[in-house]
Amino acid sequence: MESDNLTYYERQCRDWIWQGRFRELEVGRQDGAYIRVQGRRMLNLSSNDYLGIAGDRTLRREFFSETPWTDASLSASSSRLLAGNDPVYAEVEELLARLYGTRSALVFNGGYQMNVGILPCMAQEDCLILADKSVHASLIDGIRLSRARALRFRHGDMEHLEDLLRRYASAYRSVFVVTESIFSMDGDLCPLRDLVSLKKRYPNVLLYVDEAHAVGVRGKGGLGLAQETGCLSQVDFLCGTFGKALGSVGAFWVGDDRIRQYLLNRMRPLVFTTALPPLNVAWNRFILERLSGMENRRKALSELILRTGRRMAEKGFSGKPESHIVPILLGGDSVALEKARVLRAAGFYVRAIRPPTVPRGTARLRLSLSAVLSPEALDGLWEYLGVS
Ligand code: PMP
Repeated sequence: MESDNLTYYERQCRDWIWQGRFRELEVGRQDGAYIRVQGRRMLNLSSNDYLGIAGDRTLRREFFSETPWTDASLSASSSRLLAGNDPVYAEVEELLARLYGTRSALVFNGGYQMNVGILPCMAQEDCLILADKSVHASLIDGIRLSRARALRFRHGDMEHLEDLLRRYASAYRSVFVVTESIFSMDGDLCPLRDLVSLKKRYPNVLLYVDEAHAVGVRGKGGLGLAQETGCLSQVDFLCGTFGKALGSVGAFWVGDDRIRQYLLNRMRPLVFTTALPPLNVAWNRFILERLSGMENRRKALSELILRTGRRMAEKGFSGKPESHIVPILLGGDSVALEKARVLRAAGFYVRAIRPPTVPRGTARLRLSLSAVLSPEALDGLWEYLGVS
């Protein structure tokens, strides 16, 4: 079998195993704050169900009691531009526009499709993209597919960004400045107000903010960090996902109607795909309608973040968590894997995050906090973590 066309891939996988970078699927059934894997129930610190909505059986029961199964279509059967545009899409988009106070909104099949679709559609040869060095893989893929010139600025470094703007902005029709509001692997916040003041000085800047990890969790009514920092009206591409704190699937953009018209005509992952099942979109609407009333969940989560900060300080870690995503940097891949193994044996489900998801030498445990985690149960974790 040595001459097999697939030998290359097999060798590559063997190398990854040897380097401690091989990824494998693991079957797990999530249940509230816990997950059951191979018959063991562990505290789930790897899920993005930050408000505990996805695992909330009461909410689910309420949803199904008001959504008769006969009305809940399980397939859109085509793109929204063909026959798939069920009325529920317009309902959820009107609701999003009303909540955010924008003219328009658009729903996508997922955050990945959104990020891989918007930039190639909007940023053309005569445009420049300036992206934070730590943006998510989906944004990087969108940048790769775009015909625009692209440069990265050092993570959160506004001086570097301004330097690039000063040098290049005037040569392009538009400059797309791309960032996340809460960074997915570091859990830190982007300086949104500083970005907005730069935008005011460079009028051809369009601001693209991926709020995947902030929607639901931050801001009034859970609208995200742009709302919390008073920057909503300055963000041209305010993007969120339904797959994390909102306990569902899909993604959304809100903003100016001219952008919506353009995307509807040209964005390939929107035009050339079967739309989300109307049932899921109805659940998205159901959750959005209740989001502002979930203040107690947001409060529980922010208390948990503070408590985690105290435990980290006690254990000698420098820095405090800025959000519900708490990275525990360990450096080497094998160290991170071993730590994850120890924690699992102790009943904590934490996955080791390794390159290429994060830069070389920064392998880590990524603790994903959720409003439904019991603070006392979480405290037990710190017995196994510390600066030695
Ligand atoms: N943006 C960011 C910042 C993310 O972390 C993720 C998911 N990890 C996505 C987009 C993709 O979102 P979705 O899961 O809805 O495809």
